Amino acid sequence: MSRIIAAAAIRGAHKIALQAEQMLAKAVAAKGDSAPVEFPNTGYFIPIIYAMTGHEVKTLADFKPVMARVKALLPPTVSDHLWTPYLGPALDAGMATLFAEEIIEACKYVIGPSPVNGLWLGAADDVILRERGIQFVDGSAPGFAAVVGAAPDTKTAVEIARKLQERMLYVFMCAHDHGTSFAQQLAEAGVQMGWETRLVPFGPEITAAIYSLGFAARAAMSFGGVQPGDFRRNLLYNKARIFAFVLALGKVTDEWYATAAGAINYGFPTIADSDIPQILPTGVCTYEHVVSSVPHDEIVERAIVIRGLKIKVAKVPIPVAFSPAFEGERIRKEDMHVEFGGQRTPGFEWLTSAPMDQVEDGKVEVFGADLDSVQEGGKLPLGIVVEVAGRKMQPDFEPVLERQIHTFLNHAQGVFHMGQRDINWVRISKAAFKAGFRLEHLGKILHAMLHEHFSSILDKVQVKVHSDEKKVLEIQDQARKVYHERDARLAGMTDESVDIFYSCTLCQSFAPNHLCVITPQRSGLCGAYSWLDGRAAYEINPAGANQPIPKGAPVDARLGQWEKVNQFILQKSSGTIERMSAYSMIVDPMTSCGCFECISAVLPSTGGIMIAPREYPDMTPCGMKFSTLAGTVGGGRQVPGFVGHSRHYITSPKFISADGGFKRIVWMPKMLKDELHDDLVKCASALGLGGEEFLKKIADETVATTEEQVAEFIAKAGHPVMVMDPMF
Ligand code: SF4
Ligand code: ZN
Repeated sequence: MSRIIAAAAIRGAHKIALQAEQMLAKAVAAKGDSAPVEFPNTGYFIPIIYAMTGHEVKTLADFKPVMARVKALLPPTVSDHLWTPYLGPALDAGMATLFAEEIIEACKYVIGPSPVNGLWLGAADDVILRERGIQFVDGSAPGFAAVVGAAPDTKTAVEIARKLQERMLYVFMCAHDHGTSFAQQLAEAGVQMGWETRLVPFGPEITAAIYSLGFAARAAMSFGGVQPGDFRRNLLYNKARIFAFVLALGKVTDEWYATAAGAINYGFPTIADSDIPQILPTGVCTYEHVVSSVPHDEIVERAIVIRGLKIKVAKVPIPVAFSPAFEGERIRKEDMHVEFGGQRTPGFEWLTSAPMDQVEDGKVEVFGADLDSVQEGGKLPLGIVVEVAGRKMQPDFEPVLERQIHTFLNHAQGVFHMGQRDINWVRISKAAFKAGFRLEHLGKILHAMLHEHFSSILDKVQVKVHSDEKKVLEIQDQARKVYHERDARLAGMTDESVDIFYSCTLCQSFAPNHLCVITPQRSGLCGAYSWLDGRAAYEINPAGANQPIPKGAPVDARLGQWEKVNQFILQKSSGTIERMSAYSMIVDPMTSCGCFECISAVLPSTGGIMIAPREYPDMTPCGMKFSTLAGTVGGGRQVPGFVGHSRHYITSPKFISADGGFKRIVWMPKMLKDELHDDLVKCASALGLGGEEFLKKIADETVATTEEQVAEFIAKAGHPVMVMDPMF
């Protein structure tokens, strides 16, 4: 290692260690030794410390041994003239720096100023970790760029950010330079930041770098099955699986050097725009460790080559950028050129199959006014009809392909899409319009992407885009009939009416022993796969993650266990799960990966259960927030008394039917009650519980946040669970 860098990194580590010591002393003086310390809503304590040492920091006192460890790791400072031939001392200094930086940031949560402030988001909680971390595993995000400092100007910052987004990378931002920061520069240019757009501003100081590296350490524990304290495997997992690098923009201080040395431990190299000594021979990182003096217009490409990323960017002939990174982009009213649907104008989207000779591949037609004819901020009706043909195409595949319209359109920069079918809502930004985006480009996107993803079943795709109100209403009517037929197909099916269920093992990439068994009356727990979808997916790709499971003879019809299903589970869970009940959360419940829409948990003293949806951030009556619950139930385990499931399953006649079913529900947040209102009422009526009346007997957070309060509430309300047998 270059001795200059080693010396600087070690110097920086000493400075940060001192800062941590002072910060800790200040926090202890203000709040006392026993003051609790946490990053909000996580089961991973202070994550880098926890991942590398296994030490659970819960109070300020718990930082004391960490501080001692930091000091033990710190090598003596060396002069620039002293030759240090190995990375060793600098790497130790790097690790000590990260621990010290975690102490500093954690103390900010205790005594302020809060890391969550204006632009800055601070630590990511476990809900974000699950949602976003999964993308690092399934390949929809190859990794992240930790951008440190600031670009020379706003324009350069925007260009760098866009290039990183186009490559689907997350951009994690920290530190500042020449009085500004990369995040501030993006904000000035009106760029939308946040986890949805993959542009994540963590904090204005270099110490905020630990939020990126802590995220990576948690991903290894959560998805890679790495045990806390197993620092070797954690770092190796990151080196091999998370494609990350540091972009250092601006003057590299001693503290930056020290933090970069910490990142090198993970195998994350640093690419700098300034003239700092390079470290080229490969060792800990896959390629070079530090590369300097890279011009801004090349810096993203260079970083990608150095870190060894292989990214396939689909070429779509449209005038705006196209990448999954734009998926979460919102378009505010002020930034919008035009919008469609969303209760404002009639809208729909419909994918249907047609005979080969009636589809001309690549043909896109626009009927009605185009975007030029609307005033800025205006609206138009929108009907999208996609006609596909292919020898292997079947009507059952239509909804599966149609659902992709949402994903595909959202990948275009400046296009926002929500909903589906006749409740779709589309916005196109002023910037996209100025760049030349027109209605025909919606068709171009769908043509390109359907070919890209479904070439195994379709040969031809043509698209008609309608914006004439009369015509839109007319075709919308036709489409509605088809939507209705599709729904009726699944609604009429029961688990007894089929001999085959479908498996889904998509989530095994991060929960290796988990599988969903999808039945007509129980969809996959993420809510994305119904039995029909499972069947279609199997036919589209017979070697894929959805396989048919013949049921075989029932083992226990009440619990929902079948001979062959159990055999299949045993085999696909690598021998870890012998039996699984489709209808019980008490006896051999289904396993949960991490993507469940909801978790149900028994509240023993009430004789009933509570349901928490993923979006509910607050404490629940079982004493855990959703994120903690998810940590308890997830990962492919069977945890009696708890089960992860889709929203749809709640109103299925098979909902924990072996345990008493729907009637057991005693608590759910108001948001879930409101959202499922009509279905819940229907379900309660069908069970003779008095429809709306039953809903009023279910407690929510406005009347009960603890188990005792729920018990009191349901006793007063005369909830039917009061006369049922206990669940266990
Ligand atoms: Fe498949 Fe289940 Fe994962 Fe959904 S949660 S993707 S159904 S394994
Ligand atoms: Zn999952």
